[in-house]
Amino acid sequence: MTAYLVGAGPGDPGLLTARALELIAQADVILHDRLIPSAALAHARPDAELVDVGKVGGGEQVPQDETTRLLVEHARAGRTVVRLKGGDPFVFGRGGEEAQALRAAGCPFEVVPGVTAGVAAPAYAGIPVTQRGLASAVAFVTGHEDPAKAGVAVDWAALAVFPGTLVFYMGVRQLPRIAELLVAHGRDPDEPAAIVERGTLDDQRTLRTTLAALGEQDARAPAVTVVGAVAALHDELAWVRDGPLAGLTIAVTRARAQASGLAARLRELGADVVEAPAIRVEPLPVDLPDPRDYDLLVLTSPNGVGELFRHLRDARALAGPQIAVIGPGTADALRAQGVEPDLVPERAVGESLADALGGRSFRRALVARAVAARDVVPDALREAGTEVDVVALYRTVAEPLSDAARAQALGADWLTFTSASSVRFFHEAAGTLDGPRLASIGPVTSAALRDLGREPDLEAADHTPDGLVAALVAAAGRR
Ligand code: SAH
Repeated sequence: MTAYLVGAGPGDPGLLTARALELIAQADVILHDRLIPSAALAHARPDAELVDVGKVGGGEQVPQDETTRLLVEHARAGRTVVRLKGGDPFVFGRGGEEAQALRAAGCPFEVVPGVTAGVAAPAYAGIPVTQRGLASAVAFVTGHEDPAKAGVAVDWAALAVFPGTLVFYMGVRQLPRIAELLVAHGRDPDEPAAIVERGTLDDQRTLRTTLAALGEQDARAPAVTVVGAVAALHDELAWVRDGPLAGLTIAVTRARAQASGLAARLRELGADVVEAPAIRVEPLPVDLPDPRDYDLLVLTSPNGVGELFRHLRDARALAGPQIAVIGPGTADALRAQGVEPDLVPERAVGESLADALGGRSFRRALVARAVAARDVVPDALREAGTEVDVVALYRTVAEPLSDAARAQALGADWLTFTSASSVRFFHEAAGTLDGPRLASIGPVTSAALRDLGREPDLEAADHTPDGLVAALVAAAGRR
């Protein structure tokens, strides 16, 4: 099978290419770097194997040889393997070496270029790397090597006279030496410079300075450093958005497959989003009863809708029963399948549906939902004399939480929960909920927090992801 060397762009998930998303969604195995947009992995199949080969902090970085070996091994085993790298795979990404190894092993491969940090981070800081009259060439340079080391690949004398913009990747700690060497070889110490940290991410920061003063900046990786007249355009062209949630870090504990909508919305509003999925949806083997045998079908979650349609052989089977759903997200998931629900209660909780059914009696009702869900709706229906069958289509299971994700989530300003099970699983995995303020989507989720002795700091009035976002915006406004 083919191996794919795929660029994931510099961080903003909007800068993933269409081809990258397509391949991520198809992959059996994804070998990914640490510096890739966390949202990128949300598009992976739930059963895809995700391997972080760029671990730092918690774990050791996987050596390059081992990464290459894994890549070849998976490709040979006939799996669709995606090697997902930050930025562009062939720009300081060792993609060339991996391609050589694949070629040597006789494995076919495809390269998917990505948006490289050296262009994108300056762009998000309002710095075009070329500009008529200011720079008609640009050099991408590694700042990684020790510039004092004899025989290094970087020719400092040539760079000092390079007629255009210099963009350095890596090596923020080498900046004092880089500046010194360039100046020593004749580059103008007053030339404009800029360091763009965490470019295209929500907490991007730009330090505007001069070549001579580069080394005095308190710069933190990952960052690219721009040396050249274009760096001064930052003062005029900086455009990075902020929003009502700017400056806030918000952790999302939703299942990876569903987190992206919520995360994207929060990011649009300026938040820095940490994805720390606590749960995962696991389909159950079921023998789905024929919906035509019922006059009411109840669906309680978007997952339930998804699973129902996986089992349904013919959508016309839904023509018979009335369909009641809990929550606008569930209604939308159903509409996406071309079916309009008959009843969506005002609030996205079982009690509200029970009220809306108002004691109406049906002949037979089918409730399709997760295993271990609450029985509010089946009980209310039975009370009204309806014969009820409950079918469990899926269950939610704990998703392991990496040390890095745990630390980031507990260091966030807000920890968001969109279900009672995500509260329980996150608490189990993290061992605590202490640190961030706690945001709950609704009363059932809040009750799960109270069971753990914690009062939510915020509960959405509208029990939907959008409602949760609105409540966070309102809370930010009150600060
Ligand atoms: N293949 C990547 C570069 C990998 S080398 C690409 O094409 O972008 C890693 C370096 O890239 C970092 O040390 C930093 O210099 C730069 N980098 C990656 N992501 C960045 C970001 N979001 N903002 C600024 N620099 C970034």
